[in-house]
Amino acid sequence: STEDAPSQPRQRVVTKGSNAPAPADTFSVLAERYQVSSLILSNLRTYGYNYPTGIQSHGIPILLESRDLAAISPTGTGKTLSYLLPIISSLVAPASSANSNAGAGVRAVVLAPTRELAHQIHNECLKLAEGRKWRVVLFSKATASTLAEKSVRDKVDIIISTPLRLVASLKSGNLELSNVRHLILDEADRMLDAEFFPQFEEILAACSHPKLQKAVFSATLPANAEKMAMQMLRDPIRVVVGLKDT
Ligand code: ADP
Ligand code: MG
Repeated sequence: STEDAPSQPRQRVVTKGSNAPAPADTFSVLAERYQVSSLILSNLRTYGYNYPTGIQSHGIPILLESRDLAAISPTGTGKTLSYLLPIISSLVAPASSANSNAGAGVRAVVLAPTRELAHQIHNECLKLAEGRKWRVVLFSKATASTLAEKSVRDKVDIIISTPLRLVASLKSGNLELSNVRHLILDEADRMLDAEFFPQFEEILAACSHPKLQKAVFSATLPANAEKMAMQMLRDPIRVVVGLKDT
């Protein structure tokens, strides 16, 4: 049926790591267990996300329990929502709001290897965040320069960027990442290769908050990238989704 999540019946999931939480077979389980808001659930329904995919049902609880995660799942299985939902859900309130988060600044960074992919992630994030005043910034030369103003910068909740763009802003002193709580590497096989790794290390060093949660997502993770991921993550849970009979 069209209500089925992409490829869901054909997915086989293997989880490794200490104390992995039980998977969530429905999105409403997330509301019961983790107080995921009714606004998020309603946004999911609006956009036709009726059931979580394999990586979503396993990955979302892991991230909502503040664990580090290495997630390997084929292209098209909904990895983006797997990390965006926990980010939006755990931010509690926009940095621009008049509450304890006022001026808290950037609390989540998603890194992707290309502008195009960053753009897609941004779109997905806007869907999920609809209805609240989250400030989700797709990092570009133009947005980077607006962030030179501290008052603007402090109201940004989530940044989605390629590594190079972010490093340029860090170097110019126009970006503060010390309150970042969630750092996500999408297409991690590329992010951890020789081209991007030095930039990623600079970003990681700037994310100095002791409660930083890290997660990597990829369709494949070659041995070398896997080794680097495991060194960087703290007591991670590793989730591998394979497609059966394909
Ligand atoms: P991946 O990053 O694993 O390649 P994406 O996150 O880009 O996959 O998702 C692939 C497509 O599936 C997107 O169009 C997305 O909107 C859709 N999608 C993701 N999760 C669900 C879901 N639970 N139900 C229905 N569609 C979904
Ligand atoms: Mg993807």
